[in-house]
Amino acid sequence: MHDLIATPFQDGHLVLRPGSPKALKIPRGKFAQLKAAVSSGDAVPAWLTDVVTQAWNIDLAGRPAAGTVLVRAAGPYSISRATWELNLGCDYDCVMCYLGKKRFEGLDMAGKRRLLHVMAEAGVVFLQVTGGEPLIDPDFPEAYEYAHELGMQLEVLSNGSRLHKDHVIALLTRLPPSKMSLSVYGATAGTYDTVTRNRGAFDRFTTGLDKAVSAGLNLDLSLIITRQNAHEADAMRTWARRLGLPFREYANLSPTIHGTAEPLPSQSPEHLTHRAPFTGCPAGVTFFHADPFGRASICKIGREPNVDLITEGVAGLARLGGIAESLMLRTGGCSGCQLSGTCRVCRPMAKILQEAKAPLENYCQHGMKEAAR
Ligand code: SF4
Ligand code: SF4
Repeated sequence: MHDLIATPFQDGHLVLRPGSPKALKIPRGKFAQLKAAVSSGDAVPAWLTDVVTQAWNIDLAGRPAAGTVLVRAAGPYSISRATWELNLGCDYDCVMCYLGKKRFEGLDMAGKRRLLHVMAEAGVVFLQVTGGEPLIDPDFPEAYEYAHELGMQLEVLSNGSRLHKDHVIALLTRLPPSKMSLSVYGATAGTYDTVTRNRGAFDRFTTGLDKAVSAGLNLDLSLIITRQNAHEADAMRTWARRLGLPFREYANLSPTIHGTAEPLPSQSPEHLTHRAPFTGCPAGVTFFHADPFGRASICKIGREPNVDLITEGVAGLARLGGIAESLMLRTGGCSGCQLSGTCRVCRPMAKILQEAKAPLENYCQHGMKEAAR
């Protein structure tokens, strides 16, 4: 497997080390030199061996560029990032899950390879693998390794329920993700197992988390605050700090992706945070989301219309920019609103909140004003 990836990215060029969050910017001319060294069988250029020694403490002096550096080609669009739901199945049944009914279904392994190939051809360099719970998919190891081979930097979003298994830690140690984001649902077994509706989940999670910390994975914790675990919010923060891990808090719950309201009663009202006014989003332009069937949408929330990447291939993504534009303009229940310029949610999010009849004070400025009276 390659030691470095050299890739076009936005208007410039990057050198990446698989599994590391660091990125080195290089000028266009140096990227061209690197490409030439790979095709002519030359050694890794000295300017590169020097900087990678400083950045990653590795010595590539004298090594052939071919096989050491994977040079990626630019995609046909501005796309460089994607998220991918490997499947929607999950071993938990969290009270606030935004996926609604979580069916374990999707592409077979051949389909997954085809999808990853299309993503690479489209220019995806940074891929977030999610679910459901991606690590319960038997195809995860092969898909993950194939994405690495294609020169993608992988982030894995997981509930951490499988990290206690040695073969899982062995794979993630051999081919580390550049980031592994783990959700945390409580600080005690009683609360964690209540939120996830899975007995024994807390014990498996804590064992796995300790193994992942010992393996040196680049971890990031997502503290999910709900009505059921809000009393342990401080304990969750203390836990993250004790482990020395970065963490973020998520308290604003979304309706399900089907526009139904089941997660909303789990919202902890006192933890609701006010989003900054929505000023735009590059969904569908620099990134897209792929569901378990290989359908590409602008993001996880605005899922329709979508593009079938398995049948249409990379050419189908040419439609995504137009889809994004039309979704951002669709005002639905907000038409005529005088406050739309300072709205705190994007149109796709507003649409599912309206469909789910979410309380207006959670997202709408009119509702917030009413609640403040
Ligand atoms: S772990 Fe994630 S996907 Fe699974 S039920 Fe909980 S919130 Fe949903
Ligand atoms: S939900 Fe809205 S802000 Fe978030 S990625 Fe989609 S379009 Fe962008």
